Amino acid sequence: MGKTVGIIGGGAAGMMAAIAAARQGGKVTLLERNDRLGKKILSTGNGKCNLGNESLKVDHYYTRRPDMLADFLRRFGTQETLSFFREIGLMIKSRNGYLYPACEQAAVVLDVLRYQVKASGVTIVTEFKAERIERDTRSNLIEVRSEKGLVYSFDRVVLACGGMAAPKTGSDGSGYHLARQLGHQLIPIVPALVQLKCRETYLKTVAGVRAEAQIEVYFQGKRRARERGELQLTEYGISGIPVFQLSRVVNYILLGEASQPESHSRGRDGFAGDRLGKKGKQSSDEDVEVVIDFMPDYSDAEFADLCASRSLLQGQRTVEEFFTGMLHKKLMLLFIKLAGLKPTEAVGQAEVWKLEKVYQLCRHWSLRVTGSNSYDNAQVCAGGVPLDEVTEWLESKILPGIYFAGELLDVDGKCGGYNLQWAWCSGFLAGQAAAKETG
Ligand SMILES: Cc1cc2nc3c(=O)[nH]c(=O)nc-3n(C[C@H](O)[C@H](O)[C@H](O)COP(=O)(O)OP(=O)(O)OC[C@H]3O[C@@H](n4cnc5c(N)ncnc54)[C@H](O)[C@@H]3O)c2cc1C
Repeated sequence: MGKTVGIIGGGAAGMMAAIAAARQGGKVTLLERNDRLGKKILSTGNGKCNLGNESLKVDHYYTRRPDMLADFLRRFGTQETLSFFREIGLMIKSRNGYLYPACEQAAVVLDVLRYQVKASGVTIVTEFKAERIERDTRSNLIEVRSEKGLVYSFDRVVLACGGMAAPKTGSDGSGYHLARQLGHQLIPIVPALVQLKCRETYLKTVAGVRAEAQIEVYFQGKRRARERGELQLTEYGISGIPVFQLSRVVNYILLGEASQPESHSRGRDGFAGDRLGKKGKQSSDEDVEVVIDFMPDYSDAEFADLCASRSLLQGQRTVEEFFTGMLHKKLMLLFIKLAGLKPTEAVGQAEVWKLEKVYQLCRHWSLRVTGSNSYDNAQVCAGGVPLDEVTEWLESKILPGIYFAGELLDVDGKCGGYNLQWAWCSGFLAGQAAAKETG
Protein backbone atom coordinates (compact mmCIF):
# COMPACT_ATOMS: atom_id res chain seq x y z
CA MET A 1 0.00 0.00 0.00
CA GLY A 2 1.23 3.50 -0.83
CA LYS A 3 2.30 6.01 1.77
CA THR A 4 -0.27 8.42 3.17
CA VAL A 5 0.84 11.92 2.25
CA GLY A 6 -0.62 15.13 3.65
CA ILE A 7 0.06 18.33 1.72
CA ILE A 8 -0.44 21.55 3.66
CA GLY A 9 -1.31 24.41 1.31
CA GLY A 10 -3.20 24.09 -1.96
CA GLY A 11 -1.32 26.74 -3.94
CA ALA A 12 0.94 26.24 -6.96
CA ALA A 13 3.52 24.13 -5.11
CA GLY A 14 0.97 22.19 -3.06
CA MET A 15 -1.20 21.20 -6.05
CA MET A 16 1.88 20.12 -7.96
CA ALA A 17 3.09 18.11 -4.94
CA ALA A 18 -0.33 16.44 -4.62
CA ILE A 19 -0.36 15.38 -8.29
CA ALA A 20 3.25 14.11 -8.13
CA ALA A 21 2.65 12.19 -4.89
CA ALA A 22 -0.50 10.58 -6.30
CA ARG A 23 1.37 9.56 -9.48
CA GLN A 24 3.90 7.87 -7.24
CA GLY A 25 1.14 5.78 -5.67
CA GLY A 26 0.63 7.87 -2.53
CA LYS A 27 -2.71 8.21 -0.79
CA VAL A 28 -2.84 11.97 -0.82
CA THR A 29 -4.82 14.53 1.18
CA LEU A 30 -4.52 18.22 0.34
CA LEU A 31 -5.26 20.57 3.26
CA GLU A 32 -6.05 24.16 2.30
CA ARG A 33 -7.11 26.96 4.61
CA ASN A 34 -9.22 28.80 2.00
CA ASP A 35 -12.54 27.57 0.71
CA ARG A 36 -10.89 26.83 -2.65
CA LEU A 37 -7.50 25.94 -4.09
CA GLY A 38 -4.95 28.16 -5.80
CA LYS A 39 -6.35 31.62 -5.16
CA LYS A 40 -3.01 33.33 -5.73
CA ILE A 41 -2.57 31.78 -9.18
CA LEU A 42 -5.53 33.85 -10.38
CA SER A 43 -3.68 37.12 -9.84
CA THR A 44 -0.37 36.04 -11.37
CA GLY A 45 0.95 37.77 -14.48
CA ASN A 46 -1.85 40.36 -14.32
CA GLY A 47 -4.38 37.58 -14.66
CA LYS A 48 -2.47 35.90 -17.50
CA CYS A 49 -0.09 33.75 -15.41
CA ASN A 50 3.52 33.84 -16.50
CA LEU A 51 4.12 30.23 -15.53
CA GLY A 52 7.73 29.78 -16.59
CA ASN A 53 10.50 30.95 -18.84
CA GLU A 54 12.44 29.39 -21.71
CA SER A 55 15.62 30.84 -20.28
CA LEU A 56 16.09 29.30 -16.84
CA LYS A 57 19.28 29.83 -14.89
CA VAL A 58 20.22 29.92 -11.24
CA ASP A 59 21.14 33.58 -11.86
CA HIS A 60 17.44 34.33 -12.12
CA TYR A 61 17.08 33.50 -8.43
CA TYR A 62 18.36 34.50 -5.00
CA THR A 63 19.21 31.80 -2.51
CA ARG A 64 22.06 31.07 -0.13
CA ARG A 65 22.53 27.67 -1.80
CA PRO A 66 22.69 28.21 -5.57
CA ASP A 67 24.39 24.82 -5.94
CA MET A 68 21.36 23.03 -4.50
CA LEU A 69 18.95 25.16 -6.50
CA ALA A 70 20.85 24.31 -9.71
CA ASP A 71 20.41 20.63 -8.94
CA PHE A 72 16.66 21.02 -8.30
CA LEU A 73 16.18 22.98 -11.53
CA ARG A 74 18.21 20.42 -13.46
CA ARG A 75 15.79 17.74 -12.31
CA PHE A 76 12.63 19.77 -12.96
CA GLY A 77 13.23 22.72 -15.29
CA THR A 78 11.41 24.42 -18.13
CA GLN A 79 11.11 21.29 -20.29
CA GLU A 80 9.55 19.36 -17.41
CA THR A 81 7.14 22.24 -16.74
CA LEU A 82 6.12 22.33 -20.41
CA SER A 83 5.66 18.55 -20.57
CA PHE A 84 3.71 18.48 -17.33
CA PHE A 85 1.24 21.16 -18.43
CA ARG A 86 0.85 19.68 -21.91
CA GLU A 87 0.10 16.30 -20.34
CA ILE A 88 -2.63 17.80 -18.20
CA GLY A 89 -4.15 19.55 -21.20
CA LEU A 90 -2.85 23.11 -21.11
CA MET A 91 -1.75 24.78 -24.35
CA ILE A 92 1.22 27.06 -23.70
CA LYS A 93 2.69 29.90 -25.72
CA SER A 94 5.96 31.77 -25.48
CA ARG A 95 6.17 35.56 -25.63
CA ASN A 96 9.87 36.37 -26.03
CA GLY A 97 10.67 33.34 -23.90
CA TYR A 98 8.09 34.14 -21.21
CA LEU A 99 5.65 31.23 -20.97
CA TYR A 100 1.91 31.82 -20.68
CA PRO A 101 -1.19 29.72 -21.19
CA ALA A 102 -2.15 30.12 -24.87
CA CYS A 103 -5.54 31.51 -23.79
CA GLU A 104 -3.77 34.04 -21.51
CA GLN A 105 -6.05 33.19 -18.60
CA ALA A 106 -4.58 32.39 -15.20
CA ALA A 107 -7.98 30.93 -14.30
CA VAL A 108 -7.46 28.24 -16.93
CA VAL A 109 -4.07 27.29 -15.43
CA LEU A 110 -5.81 26.90 -12.10
CA ASP A 111 -8.61 24.88 -13.67
CA VAL A 112 -6.31 22.32 -15.33
CA LEU A 113 -4.45 21.91 -12.04
CA ARG A 114 -7.64 21.51 -10.02
CA TYR A 115 -9.07 18.98 -12.48
CA GLN A 116 -5.83 17.01 -12.41
CA VAL A 117 -5.74 17.02 -8.60
CA LYS A 118 -9.29 15.66 -8.61
CA ALA A 119 -8.59 13.10 -11.34
CA SER A 120 -5.55 11.87 -9.39
CA GLY A 121 -7.81 10.76 -6.55
CA VAL A 122 -6.46 13.35 -4.11
CA THR A 123 -8.74 14.07 -1.15
CA ILE A 124 -9.22 17.82 -0.89
CA VAL A 125 -9.97 19.32 2.50
CA THR A 126 -10.66 23.06 2.42
CA GLU A 127 -11.06 25.50 5.29
CA PHE A 128 -8.41 23.61 7.21
CA LYS A 129 -5.77 25.92 8.61
CA ALA A 130 -2.87 23.84 9.90
CA GLU A 131 -1.68 25.14 13.23
CA ARG A 132 0.47 22.38 14.66
CA ILE A 133 2.50 19.47 13.28
CA GLU A 134 4.09 16.78 15.43
CA ARG A 135 5.10 13.16 15.25
CA ASP A 136 3.02 10.81 17.36
CA THR A 137 5.61 8.63 19.07
CA ARG A 138 3.28 5.64 19.41
CA SER A 139 1.99 5.41 15.84
CA ASN A 140 5.07 7.13 14.36
CA LEU A 141 2.67 9.07 12.15
CA ILE A 142 2.86 12.82 11.61
CA GLU A 143 -0.17 14.59 13.03
CA VAL A 144 -1.46 17.80 11.52
CA ARG A 145 -3.84 19.74 13.72
CA SER A 146 -6.07 22.57 12.48
CA GLU A 147 -6.85 25.71 14.42
CA LYS A 148 -10.31 24.25 14.99
CA GLY A 149 -8.82 21.11 16.57
CA LEU A 150 -9.31 18.72 13.62
CA VAL A 151 -6.47 16.20 13.30
CA TYR A 152 -5.18 14.23 10.30
CA SER A 153 -2.35 11.70 10.50
CA PHE A 154 0.06 10.85 7.68
CA ASP A 155 3.24 8.91 6.97
CA ARG A 156 4.66 11.98 5.27
CA VAL A 157 3.77 15.66 5.13
CA VAL A 158 4.67 18.30 2.53
CA LEU A 159 4.64 21.87 3.81
CA ALA A 160 3.64 24.13 0.91
CA CYS A 161 2.02 27.07 2.71
CA GLY A 162 3.74 29.79 0.67
CA GLY A 163 5.25 32.91 2.22
CA MET A 164 3.31 35.95 3.29
CA ALA A 165 3.14 38.00 0.12
CA ALA A 166 -0.40 38.98 -0.86
CA PRO A 167 -1.78 37.49 2.38
CA LYS A 168 -5.36 37.98 1.20
CA THR A 169 -4.81 34.97 -1.05
CA GLY A 170 -4.19 32.74 1.97
CA SER A 171 -0.43 32.73 2.48
CA ASP A 172 -0.32 34.70 5.72
CA GLY A 173 3.06 33.50 7.00
CA SER A 174 1.69 30.62 9.04
CA GLY A 175 4.01 28.27 7.13
CA TYR A 176 6.98 30.05 8.70
CA HIS A 177 5.52 29.48 12.16
CA LEU A 178 5.00 25.79 11.41
CA ALA A 179 8.60 25.49 10.18
CA ARG A 180 9.85 27.19 13.33
CA GLN A 181 7.75 24.90 15.49
CA LEU A 182 9.51 21.96 13.85
CA GLY A 183 12.88 23.42 14.84
CA HIS A 184 13.86 25.00 11.53
CA GLN A 185 15.77 28.26 11.27
CA LEU A 186 14.50 31.01 9.06
CA ILE A 187 16.54 33.30 6.86
CA PRO A 188 15.06 36.73 7.69
CA ILE A 189 11.99 37.34 5.58
CA VAL A 190 11.34 40.55 3.66
CA PRO A 191 8.87 41.58 0.95
CA ALA A 192 10.32 41.24 -2.56
CA LEU A 193 9.13 42.21 -6.05
CA VAL A 194 7.47 45.24 -4.53
CA GLN A 195 7.37 49.04 -5.00
CA LEU A 196 9.80 51.31 -3.13
CA LYS A 197 8.89 54.39 -1.10
CA CYS A 198 11.00 57.54 -1.29
CA ARG A 199 11.50 60.53 0.95
CA GLU A 200 11.08 63.12 -1.84
CA THR A 201 7.59 64.59 -1.65
CA TYR A 202 7.97 66.32 -5.02
CA LEU A 203 7.49 62.93 -6.69
CA LYS A 204 3.78 63.76 -6.75
CA THR A 205 4.44 66.06 -9.69
CA VAL A 206 5.77 63.23 -11.84
CA ALA A 207 3.43 60.44 -10.69
CA GLY A 208 2.35 58.32 -13.63
CA VAL A 209 5.46 58.93 -15.72
CA ARG A 210 7.03 55.79 -17.23
CA ALA A 211 10.47 55.78 -18.80
CA GLU A 212 13.28 53.39 -19.70
CA ALA A 213 16.04 53.81 -17.13
CA GLN A 214 18.95 52.25 -15.36
CA ILE A 215 18.58 52.22 -11.59
CA GLU A 216 21.40 51.69 -9.13
CA VAL A 217 21.16 51.10 -5.39
CA TYR A 218 23.85 52.67 -3.20
CA PHE A 219 24.41 52.25 0.48
CA GLN A 220 27.29 53.70 2.49
CA GLY A 221 28.88 54.85 -0.73
CA LYS A 222 28.96 51.43 -2.35
CA ARG A 223 26.86 50.23 -5.24
CA ARG A 224 24.80 47.23 -4.11
CA ALA A 225 22.72 46.42 -7.18
CA ARG A 226 21.74 47.62 -10.62
CA GLU A 227 18.77 46.92 -12.91
CA ARG A 228 17.46 48.31 -16.15
CA GLY A 229 13.94 48.47 -17.56
CA GLU A 230 10.77 50.51 -17.49
CA LEU A 231 10.66 52.71 -14.40
CA GLN A 232 7.29 53.93 -13.15
CA LEU A 233 7.06 56.96 -10.92
CA THR A 234 4.35 57.08 -8.28
CA GLU A 235 3.17 59.64 -5.73
CA TYR A 236 5.16 57.95 -2.99
CA GLY A 237 8.12 56.47 -4.82
CA ILE A 238 9.16 54.20 -7.65
CA SER A 239 7.78 51.06 -9.26
CA GLY A 240 8.15 48.90 -12.36
CA ILE A 241 10.00 45.67 -13.02
CA PRO A 242 13.55 46.98 -12.39
CA VAL A 243 12.40 48.46 -9.06
CA PHE A 244 10.67 45.20 -8.11
CA GLN A 245 13.89 43.37 -8.72
CA LEU A 246 15.90 45.76 -6.57
CA SER A 247 13.39 45.77 -3.72
CA ARG A 248 14.73 42.69 -1.92
CA VAL A 249 18.25 44.21 -1.85
CA VAL A 250 16.90 47.47 -0.42
CA ASN A 251 14.76 45.68 2.16
CA TYR A 252 17.69 43.61 3.41
CA ILE A 253 19.80 46.74 3.73
CA LEU A 254 17.01 48.43 5.68
CA LEU A 255 16.71 45.35 7.87
CA GLY A 256 20.36 45.63 8.70
CA GLU A 257 21.44 42.77 6.47
CA ALA A 258 23.56 45.02 4.34
CA SER A 259 25.70 42.19 3.05
CA GLN A 260 22.70 40.32 1.61
CA PRO A 261 22.23 38.45 -0.58
CA GLU A 262 25.73 37.17 -1.29
CA SER A 263 26.83 36.51 2.27
CA HIS A 264 25.00 33.93 4.26
CA SER A 265 23.31 35.47 7.25
CA ARG A 266 21.31 32.38 7.98
CA GLY A 267 19.43 32.23 11.22
CA ARG A 268 21.38 35.10 12.65
CA ASP A 269 18.36 36.26 14.52
CA GLY A 270 16.31 33.16 13.86
CA PHE A 271 12.71 33.82 13.03
CA ALA A 272 12.15 37.29 11.72
CA GLY A 273 8.56 37.03 12.90
CA ASP A 274 8.68 40.13 15.04
CA ARG A 275 9.61 42.06 11.94
CA LEU A 276 7.20 40.42 9.54
CA GLY A 277 4.77 42.85 8.04
CA LYS A 278 6.57 45.81 9.57
CA LYS A 279 8.87 48.18 7.84
CA GLY A 280 12.51 47.35 8.53
CA LYS A 281 14.52 49.62 10.78
CA GLN A 282 17.19 51.76 9.22
CA SER A 283 20.53 50.14 9.89
CA SER A 284 22.43 53.43 9.89
CA ASP A 285 21.75 57.14 9.75
CA GLU A 286 22.25 56.99 6.03
CA ASP A 287 19.41 56.40 3.64
CA VAL A 288 19.51 53.88 0.91
CA GLU A 289 20.01 55.86 -2.25
CA VAL A 290 18.80 55.02 -5.74
CA VAL A 291 20.42 56.76 -8.66
CA ILE A 292 18.45 56.86 -11.88
CA ASP A 293 19.91 57.29 -15.35
CA PHE A 294 17.35 58.10 -18.02
CA MET A 295 19.93 57.87 -20.80
CA PRO A 296 21.63 54.56 -20.08
CA ASP A 297 22.60 53.98 -23.71
CA TYR A 298 24.90 57.00 -23.79
CA SER A 299 28.53 56.86 -22.69
CA ASP A 300 29.74 59.96 -20.81
CA ALA A 301 31.49 61.19 -23.95
CA GLU A 302 28.41 60.65 -26.12
CA PHE A 303 26.26 62.47 -23.60
CA ALA A 304 28.71 65.39 -23.50
CA ASP A 305 28.50 65.55 -27.33
CA LEU A 306 24.72 65.52 -27.13
CA CYS A 307 24.69 68.39 -24.63
CA ALA A 308 27.17 70.34 -26.76
CA SER A 309 25.05 69.88 -29.87
CA ARG A 310 21.93 70.99 -28.01
CA SER A 311 23.58 74.29 -27.07
CA LEU A 312 22.96 75.30 -30.70
CA LEU A 313 19.26 75.38 -29.85
CA GLN A 314 19.73 78.22 -27.43
CA GLY A 315 18.56 81.19 -29.54
CA GLN A 316 15.60 83.09 -28.12
CA ARG A 317 14.19 80.11 -26.23
CA THR A 318 12.97 79.86 -22.68
CA VAL A 319 14.54 77.24 -20.40
CA GLU A 320 11.52 74.98 -20.87
CA GLU A 321 11.66 75.31 -24.65
CA PHE A 322 15.38 74.65 -24.62
CA PHE A 323 15.11 71.36 -22.75
CA THR A 324 12.00 70.13 -24.56
CA GLY A 325 12.54 66.90 -26.47
CA MET A 326 14.92 65.08 -24.17
CA LEU A 327 12.71 63.36 -21.61
CA HIS A 328 9.08 63.18 -20.56
CA LYS A 329 7.75 66.74 -20.22
CA LYS A 330 6.88 66.36 -16.53
CA LEU A 331 10.35 65.05 -15.70
CA MET A 332 12.08 67.83 -17.57
CA LEU A 333 10.00 70.45 -15.74
CA LEU A 334 10.88 68.81 -12.42
CA PHE A 335 14.59 68.79 -13.23
CA ILE A 336 14.44 72.44 -14.30
CA LYS A 337 12.91 73.27 -10.94
CA LEU A 338 15.39 71.11 -8.99
CA ALA A 339 18.23 72.92 -10.74
CA GLY A 340 16.88 76.23 -9.45
CA LEU A 341 15.66 77.48 -12.82
CA LYS A 342 12.32 78.88 -13.93
CA PRO A 343 10.79 77.30 -17.05
CA THR A 344 9.87 80.74 -18.38
CA GLU A 345 13.25 82.43 -17.98
CA ALA A 346 15.37 83.05 -21.06
CA VAL A 347 17.91 80.28 -21.48
CA GLY A 348 20.52 82.77 -22.66
CA GLN A 349 20.34 84.52 -19.28
CA ALA A 350 20.42 81.36 -17.15
CA GLU A 351 23.47 80.46 -15.13
CA VAL A 352 25.49 77.80 -16.92
CA TRP A 353 25.99 75.62 -13.85
CA LYS A 354 22.20 75.40 -13.44
CA LEU A 355 21.78 74.30 -17.05
CA GLU A 356 24.48 71.71 -16.48
CA LYS A 357 22.66 70.57 -13.37
CA VAL A 358 19.58 69.79 -15.47
CA TYR A 359 21.68 67.59 -17.76
CA GLN A 360 23.24 65.95 -14.75
CA LEU A 361 19.84 65.11 -13.27
CA CYS A 362 18.91 63.31 -16.50
CA ARG A 363 21.71 60.84 -15.76
CA HIS A 364 22.14 60.90 -12.00
CA TRP A 365 18.81 61.60 -10.35
CA SER A 366 19.21 60.57 -6.74
CA LEU A 367 16.28 59.54 -4.54
CA ARG A 368 16.33 58.50 -0.89
CA VAL A 369 14.50 55.26 -0.22
CA THR A 370 12.76 54.84 3.12
CA GLY A 371 11.31 51.36 2.61
CA SER A 372 9.05 49.32 0.43
CA ASN A 373 5.34 48.78 0.28
CA SER A 374 4.15 46.01 2.58
CA TYR A 375 3.60 42.29 2.03
CA ASP A 376 0.11 43.20 0.79
CA ASN A 377 1.66 44.57 -2.38
CA ALA A 378 4.63 42.22 -2.68
CA GLN A 379 4.62 39.40 -5.23
CA VAL A 380 6.93 37.17 -3.19
CA CYS A 381 8.91 36.94 0.03
CA ALA A 382 12.67 36.70 0.17
CA GLY A 383 14.19 34.46 2.86
CA GLY A 384 12.56 31.46 4.53
CA VAL A 385 13.60 27.91 5.37
CA PRO A 386 17.28 27.52 4.39
CA LEU A 387 18.05 24.92 1.72
CA ASP A 388 20.86 23.80 4.04
CA GLU A 389 18.21 22.29 6.27
CA VAL A 390 16.67 20.04 3.59
CA THR A 391 18.02 17.11 1.62
CA GLU A 392 18.32 16.87 -2.15
CA TRP A 393 14.71 15.58 -2.01
CA LEU A 394 13.55 18.61 -0.02
CA GLU A 395 13.08 16.49 3.08
CA SER A 396 13.64 18.14 6.44
CA LYS A 397 16.97 17.21 8.01
CA ILE A 398 15.42 18.03 11.37
CA LEU A 399 12.23 15.99 11.20
CA PRO A 400 12.47 13.30 8.50
CA GLY A 401 9.13 12.65 6.86
CA ILE A 402 8.44 16.39 6.51
CA TYR A 403 9.09 17.93 3.08
CA PHE A 404 9.12 21.56 1.96
CA ALA A 405 8.05 23.14 -1.32
CA GLY A 406 7.54 26.58 -2.84
CA GLU A 407 8.00 30.05 -1.50
CA LEU A 408 8.37 28.88 2.09
CA LEU A 409 11.94 27.94 1.21
CA ASP A 410 14.78 30.41 0.84
CA VAL A 411 14.45 30.79 -2.92
CA ASP A 412 12.99 33.84 -4.65
CA GLY A 413 13.08 34.57 -8.32
CA LYS A 414 13.14 37.64 -10.49
CA CYS A 415 10.13 38.65 -12.57
CA GLY A 416 9.58 36.40 -15.59
CA GLY A 417 7.85 33.22 -14.43
CA TYR A 418 10.71 32.12 -12.18
CA ASN A 419 8.74 32.00 -8.95
CA LEU A 420 6.06 29.74 -10.36
CA GLN A 421 8.78 27.63 -11.98
CA TRP A 422 10.25 27.16 -8.52
CA ALA A 423 6.81 26.22 -7.13
CA TRP A 424 6.32 23.58 -9.87
CA CYS A 425 9.88 22.26 -9.50
CA SER A 426 9.98 22.02 -5.72
CA GLY A 427 6.36 20.82 -5.53
CA PHE A 428 7.00 18.04 -7.99
CA LEU A 429 10.24 16.83 -6.38
CA ALA A 430 8.92 17.02 -2.82
CA GLY A 431 5.59 15.35 -3.67
CA GLN A 432 7.24 12.55 -5.59
CA ALA A 433 9.78 11.87 -2.84
CA ALA A 434 7.18 12.04 -0.07
CA ALA A 435 5.15 9.23 -1.64
CA LYS A 436 8.12 6.97 -2.29
CA GLU A 437 8.47 3.89 -0.14
CA THR A 438 12.01 4.81 0.89
CA GLY A 439 11.45 8.58 1.00
C1 LIG B 1 0.09 39.66 -7.70
C2 LIG B 1 1.07 38.52 -7.92
C3 LIG B 1 1.47 38.23 -9.21
C4 LIG B 1 2.39 37.20 -9.43
N1 LIG B 1 2.74 36.90 -10.72
C5 LIG B 1 3.60 35.89 -10.95
C6 LIG B 1 3.90 35.47 -12.29
O1 LIG B 1 3.31 35.95 -13.27
N2 LIG B 1 4.85 34.51 -12.46
C7 LIG B 1 5.48 33.91 -11.40
O2 LIG B 1 6.33 33.05 -11.62
N3 LIG B 1 5.17 34.23 -10.13
C8 LIG B 1 4.24 35.19 -9.88
N4 LIG B 1 3.90 35.49 -8.59
C9 LIG B 1 4.52 34.72 -7.48
C10 LIG B 1 3.85 33.33 -7.36
O3 LIG B 1 2.46 33.48 -7.39
C11 LIG B 1 4.28 32.64 -6.07
O4 LIG B 1 5.68 32.59 -6.01
C12 LIG B 1 3.73 31.23 -5.99
O5 LIG B 1 2.31 31.25 -6.04
C13 LIG B 1 4.18 30.52 -4.72
O6 LIG B 1 3.58 29.26 -4.66
P1 LIG B 1 3.37 28.51 -3.27
O7 LIG B 1 2.52 27.32 -3.58
O8 LIG B 1 4.66 28.32 -2.62
O9 LIG B 1 2.53 29.51 -2.36
P2 LIG B 1 1.05 30.06 -2.55
O10 LIG B 1 0.69 30.14 -3.98
O11 LIG B 1 0.98 31.29 -1.76
O12 LIG B 1 0.15 28.94 -1.91
C14 LIG B 1 0.14 28.64 -0.53
C15 LIG B 1 -1.19 28.05 -0.17
O13 LIG B 1 -1.14 27.56 1.17
C16 LIG B 1 -2.31 27.94 1.87
N5 LIG B 1 -1.97 28.01 3.30
C17 LIG B 1 -1.15 28.91 3.89
N6 LIG B 1 -1.02 28.62 5.20
C18 LIG B 1 -1.78 27.52 5.42
C19 LIG B 1 -2.04 26.76 6.57
N7 LIG B 1 -1.52 27.06 7.76
N8 LIG B 1 -2.87 25.69 6.45
C20 LIG B 1 -3.44 25.36 5.28
N9 LIG B 1 -3.22 26.06 4.14
C21 LIG B 1 -2.38 27.13 4.22
C22 LIG B 1 -2.69 29.27 1.26
O14 LIG B 1 -4.05 29.56 1.45
C23 LIG B 1 -2.32 29.05 -0.22
O15 LIG B 1 -3.39 28.52 -0.95
C24 LIG B 1 2.96 36.49 -8.34
C25 LIG B 1 2.52 36.77 -7.05
C26 LIG B 1 1.58 37.77 -6.83
C27 LIG B 1 1.12 38.07 -5.42
